[in-house]
Amino acid sequence: ATHMIKFFNSMIFKGVVAHLLLFVILFMSSFDYNFAHLSTFIGYYLFSLVFVLVFLNQQHRMIVNVSKQINDIKNGYLNRDKIPKGTSEINELYDEILKLGEDIVRTQNNLENQRNQLDSILAYMVDGVIATDRRGNIIMANKSALHYLNTDNDLLMQKNIVEVLKITDQYNFYDLLEKEPEITIETHDSGNESISLHIKFALFRRESGFISGIIAVLHDMTEQDKAERERRLFVSNVSHELRTPLTSVKAYLEALEDGAIEDKETASSFINVSLTETNRMIRMISDLLTLSRMDQDRIVLNKEMINLIAFLDYQINRLDQILETESNDLISSNFTLVRKYSEQPIWVEIDTDKIAQVIDNIIGNAIKYSPKGGTITISVEKRESDVLISISDQGMGIPKSDLLKIFDRFYRVDNASRNSKVGGTGLGLSIVHDIVKIHGGTIFASSEGEGKGTTFSFTLPYSLEAADDWDDGTDEFEFEDNE
Ligand code: ADP
Repeated sequence: ATHMIKFFNSMIFKGVVAHLLLFVILFMSSFDYNFAHLSTFIGYYLFSLVFVLVFLNQQHRMIVNVSKQINDIKNGYLNRDKIPKGTSEINELYDEILKLGEDIVRTQNNLENQRNQLDSILAYMVDGVIATDRRGNIIMANKSALHYLNTDNDLLMQKNIVEVLKITDQYNFYDLLEKEPEITIETHDSGNESISLHIKFALFRRESGFISGIIAVLHDMTEQDKAERERRLFVSNVSHELRTPLTSVKAYLEALEDGAIEDKETASSFINVSLTETNRMIRMISDLLTLSRMDQDRIVLNKEMINLIAFLDYQINRLDQILETESNDLISSNFTLVRKYSEQPIWVEIDTDKIAQVIDNIIGNAIKYSPKGGTITISVEKRESDVLISISDQGMGIPKSDLLKIFDRFYRVDNASRNSKVGGTGLGLSIVHDIVKIHGGTIFASSEGEGKGTTFSFTLPYSLEAADDWDDGTDEFEFEDNE
């Protein structure tokens, strides 16, 4: 039926009817004559009908083509084939529609590009972003948001944002709209790490001013908070560590001023203690400067390719000599330095001054914390991609619970007897740790417990290529004293 209606409404049908009407009127106007020549008239009629049909059909096809074209544009497909024939009006219409189509396709592409850009910005953003509709139901969340909230997209969609953020006891959705607050929540991310999220809310409106929803931006504050806490702790530690020696120096100076200076013996002992304390403070400040330089990545390693074995031999010889010559009341007993490694060269690329500092520090600690003396063993193990250097002593050991903490700044194992004699700063192992780290290695301590000795082990990356270049043994390398 619709086909019929369509046909009765069509250009062709109407044209034919108009043609027929016109013919009938003309026919009737001189009926007698026409009737006499009926066959000729019917012939004329048919001839002009065919003509009209051909013309109308052509127009009909053009118009059908135009609507097809519009349909194609709607489906995002632009066919630029020109229609060959047609009246100028329809051709013009066709041209306009083509132009419109091109505009639409261009705008669509632009929009799509912008959308893609926006999508990738959102996807790669570190901050989480959530958008809701005007009732507060979530309509979009980016990857980071899903990670921070430990959920997936399907679970989140259409949930209410206030419930998802678990802030129902403080806010409802209208509070968020009205106050656009900034809040912090504690939660667990998808790696089950506890994090603190700082959340900012902002309304988004249509051009008409009508609120169409809210956007929440989630920022992970965990690292920032931690850094801030560490910084405060560090400042308080530094002040504390410097205050103690300063107070005692001040006390001695006051005592001297109050008359102790008259008594030569007391005076000299007070001055001695003050000097020791001052030296300790200077040591501490220069340690702090070293650490701060390493923190700011301002340390440039002066790396060279050396034979680690020759280097260690040299360092141990040097320490042996110091142990023999130096009369030091801190070192009560004799120490033996034992080398447990083969003389086969191992080539590593290191900053020799810095690694010498590491070895000095670890062996220095081994001596400081072994009141009864003993053997200090230095061993080297060549592994797949690195070299493991271990230094063991037979001293007082380190409780298991402290093994990780000793690398922290200012951390000293808390035991009155162990620290009373040796004035450390608690910074030495932090520096050692940082030096090994910037060399690309790791360091750890192990101990069987109190009184059972300690082993410090650190790794240095060892490059196979370099080893191949050098290992042919033609070029024997001696570690040279370049001080
Ligand atoms: P310090 O200046 O106190 O020596 P370090 O950072 O060098 O600071 O060492 C941190 C703490 O680790 C020391 O206070 C000490 O208690 C402990 N320690 C380090 N080396 C040893 C060791 N070889 N044996 C026992 N304890 C050690």
